[in-house]
Amino acid sequence: MTTTPSETLPAFDGRALIDGQRVWARDGQTYAKHSPVDGRLLADVARGGGADIDAAVAAARAAFEDGRWARQAPAARKRVLVRWAELILAHADELARMETLDMGKPVRYARSVDVHSAANCIRWYGEAIDKVYDEIAPTPRTALALVTREPVGVVGVIVPWNYPMLMAAWKVGPALAVGNSVVLKPSEKSPFSALRLAELALEAGLPPGVFNVVPGFGPEAGSALALHMDVDAIAFTGSTRVGKQIHVMAGQSNLKRAWTELGGKSPNLVFADCPDLDRAVQAAVGSVFFNQGESCNAPSRLFVEASIKEAFLERALQLVPRYQPADPRDPATVMGAIVDRQQLGTVMRYIELGQAEGARLLAGGQAVEPVPGGCYVQPTIFDGVHNGMTIAREEIFGPVLSVISFTDPQDAIRQANDSIYGLQAAVWTRDLNKAHAVARALRAGTVHVNQYDEDDITVPFGGFRQSGIGRDKSLHALDKYTELKTTWIRL
Ligand code: NAD
Repeated sequence: MTTTPSETLPAFDGRALIDGQRVWARDGQTYAKHSPVDGRLLADVARGGGADIDAAVAAARAAFEDGRWARQAPAARKRVLVRWAELILAHADELARMETLDMGKPVRYARSVDVHSAANCIRWYGEAIDKVYDEIAPTPRTALALVTREPVGVVGVIVPWNYPMLMAAWKVGPALAVGNSVVLKPSEKSPFSALRLAELALEAGLPPGVFNVVPGFGPEAGSALALHMDVDAIAFTGSTRVGKQIHVMAGQSNLKRAWTELGGKSPNLVFADCPDLDRAVQAAVGSVFFNQGESCNAPSRLFVEASIKEAFLERALQLVPRYQPADPRDPATVMGAIVDRQQLGTVMRYIELGQAEGARLLAGGQAVEPVPGGCYVQPTIFDGVHNGMTIAREEIFGPVLSVISFTDPQDAIRQANDSIYGLQAAVWTRDLNKAHAVARALRAGTVHVNQYDEDDITVPFGGFRQSGIGRDKSLHALDKYTELKTTWIRL
């Protein structure tokens, strides 16, 4: 280790936050939350259920109806959101260490990516909201039609564990900016940072009841929220399997609006004429191992044109040692812990399955313990994969790269699009026409050309096909949290 990690632990408080108060579950149920870094117990967490969701939704509804937030001027909401973003940055060190201990990601990225992007997202929607105008429709001159955006009301938010604070910010930021009240259920695997964010929102001046957080398990607190008759919209990020259930629950209950950001198996297409092979190799390896491979947009299917595959793999293997897992509290670490033993088991099962299906293990493949008691797996590369293998079809959500070769652009496009997912994709070529043609043919919400790491709050994020419905980020996200109302006025 280059630096001794600070052992002053952030305060892990597992109580729910409902109507401005920290409370235990109504029936007193808790669960123990351990750290994947070293297995230590972090805290007991409130195991929210139907009664807690009822209380949180009632608080959110009361706050929405009395207008304590929804009817404030946009500029007033802006001031609170900007103050909140500043408080998040002021607590960057605490929040980053909390996220690292809770879900295992390297503290350098928890700070530089998660905390900073979450604060930036909240600030961006805060600053945008007093610059969004409504419309007057081009109707006949005998009448005026105003087309205005109104908040949907009470928004339920359910997020996963891979970017706990950032996924929450992507939804809560725009939902609150337009005046909604929110009930958030974080993942049972990573509840703490969302609770702390909500405390900081109160400190920033968000009225109590406007933003409530109920920790708990998916089939308990999560389904209670998705089925709730007084929730107007549900914004979900998580697996495709659960996302489908969210749409069913939304339809079975009150036809609440349901928005889902789901899984991916993103193809990365490297042509023999790629402009810079070293950069393509670095991006392919760095992006798939980033966040321990626990990223929805990880480019986990690497398609390399057959003529350069050997050269590509040789360089890729030279980079692998950089990504050996280490203590994520160490600021030098780039690969941390897998979120828990269950997920580690899932990743190991896919690695075994890949070998059983005939793929060639080029690197990694073992669970390791750089920190005793923690959950870690080596960065793993499979060669000789074909697109029909399970490891090329299913989302592994771990640091596992599947390398597949192709012969020409049509072959590359056909294989890349042969997936249930359509979140992201990349194409590497110096031929501008080929880049455009391939990018246009790829069925994905985002296509990268000659890079994989650009990202910005200003652009929409979401998927085609079973990668979900709707978009996070950018002004397009406001559509999810608003209803359009037309008001006719006879002149
Ligand atoms: P998950 O679907 O298991 O859980 C996500 C959330 O849903 C958790 O809070 C969980 O408690 C809750 N949940 C589980 N069952 C539920 C139920 N029956 N009713 C209501 N809620 C329920 O996913 P995960 O393992 O936490 O996260 C990994 C998944 O998230 C991956 O598939 C990944 O691709 C996806 N993801 C997508 C994006 C995106 O923007 N597209 C971003 C991050 C993660």
